[in-house]
Amino acid sequence: MKYYILFGPPGAGKGTQATAMAEKYNLCHISTGELLRAEIHAGTELGKQAAALINDGKLVPDSVVEGMIASRFASVKGVDGFLLDGFPRTLEQAEALDELLDEDAEMVTSVISIMIPDGMIVERIQGRAAKEGRADDASLDTIRHRIETYHSQTEPLIAYYKARGKYKEVDGTGTIGQVRDAIFSLM
Ligand code: ATP
Ligand code: MG
Repeated sequence: MKYYILFGPPGAGKGTQATAMAEKYNLCHISTGELLRAEIHAGTELGKQAAALINDGKLVPDSVVEGMIASRFASVKGVDGFLLDGFPRTLEQAEALDELLDEDAEMVTSVISIMIPDGMIVERIQGRAAKEGRADDASLDTIRHRIETYHSQTEPLIAYYKARGKYKEVDGTGTIGQVRDAIFSLM
């Protein structure tokens, strides 16, 4: 099985690119952000707790997203692999993922990182706020806090995966088609 990680700052275009990658390579696309938004939409207890954190630009607890990933790995059949979008986002999540895969004698195939500068993050997220109506896209304060969270908690994963020879990066500032082709050439 393939286990790809799609990495990058908020608004880098992970969700957009994930759809094309999953289709071309018969992968199950798991977006922790989308799973959390589904919980919020359904009004579950988990959704209520997550909403408060997400709308503050903070991460939800590691155990919550780790559980979501483990349950999908166990239940999804008939695919050639998984495409993780928005997970792992902390070192603890990366270590938990390695342990989970190790139990099945599997490992991360590669990490594909879509990079854009901070200024473009704000621009892109503000652009999609009107179209998608996400609460965490609506306020500039929340967007800024998400960028800070990315730099402090998620960016250290670059070194983690570089040290394991798994890290690959594409320039995310081009068109959707250019970024997609750059990603396909690395898979
Ligand atoms: P993109 O626009 O590139 O798809 P994003 O950062 O805008 O990325 P999501 O990945 O959808 O958006 O995540 C939305 C929010 O959900 C995050 O800001 C965070 O609060 C929460 N979240 C998602 N994944 C995780 C995770 N792995 N660990 C903790 N919190 C998470
Ligand atoms: Mg997303």
